[in-house]
Amino acid sequence: MEEIQEITIPEDLLDEIQHNIEHIIQTFDVPEENKQEVIKQINFMYSRTKYLSLTDALTKLPNRRSFDNTLGKEFSRAKRYKNKLTIAMFDIDYFKKVNDTFGHQCGDFILKEVANAALQTFRKSDTVFRIGGEEFVVLLTETDIRQSIIPLERFRKTIETLNPVYNRKEINITVSIGACELTDEINSEEDFIKKADEQLYTAKEAGRNKTFLSLNKHL
Ligand code: GH3
Ligand code: MG
Ligand code: MG
Repeated sequence: MEEIQEITIPEDLLDEIQHNIEHIIQTFDVPEENKQEVIKQINFMYSRTKYLSLTDALTKLPNRRSFDNTLGKEFSRAKRYKNKLTIAMFDIDYFKKVNDTFGHQCGDFILKEVANAALQTFRKSDTVFRIGGEEFVVLLTETDIRQSIIPLERFRKTIETLNPVYNRKEINITVSIGACELTDEINSEEDFIKKADEQLYTAKEAGRNKTFLSLNKHL
């Protein structure tokens, strides 16, 4: 069987193709209701496929691919208009131990609980992504590092006291958080992510269940 190679088509271009397909179908020499039905089906399939490709199946949070797309857009927008933008990464502490002690299904349950807690803690304008196994990112728009302290610490404490119950057992979990704001010195999305990741690493080294922020010279 021929191997299909994955290629990355920008989301905007896909939307444009989708829009043009509707136009092409309009030109078909078939009854109007048939055209409308075909367009309806294509629209449904397209939105479903798009949703699946950008969503993490377990937590239903936007996934890594969605994060890459969104960061690209938010980074350029923030640079161009000098908007505030903060990125925070968080990672569940000793998560391997949760799996080892209570089983993988319990681990999956915890991931969903943490995702739901994040959705409830952060503002609607902030986006929470699951970018890897037990690693998440929050993009806080119109927020500088000082303003991010309150929601990030609120979230860390929420998780610390969440104590989700699985099979009648209370599971204690914590998260470590690293965050960084966009400054003039940061010139690429990779640098931006790296800086937050470095803070996360420091939070882990400092004993976990901590929030570390990249503070800049003027603070
Ligand atoms: P640290 O405090 O340094 O972050 O330690 P950790 O144990 O959380 O980190 P480590 O990277 O050693 O282990 C991550 C674990 O996350 C290992 C892997 O089995 C688990 N994991 C990753 N994805 C999933 C998933 O989808 N479901 C479950 N149940 N576990 C997952
Ligand atoms: Mg971890
Ligand atoms: Mg990890």
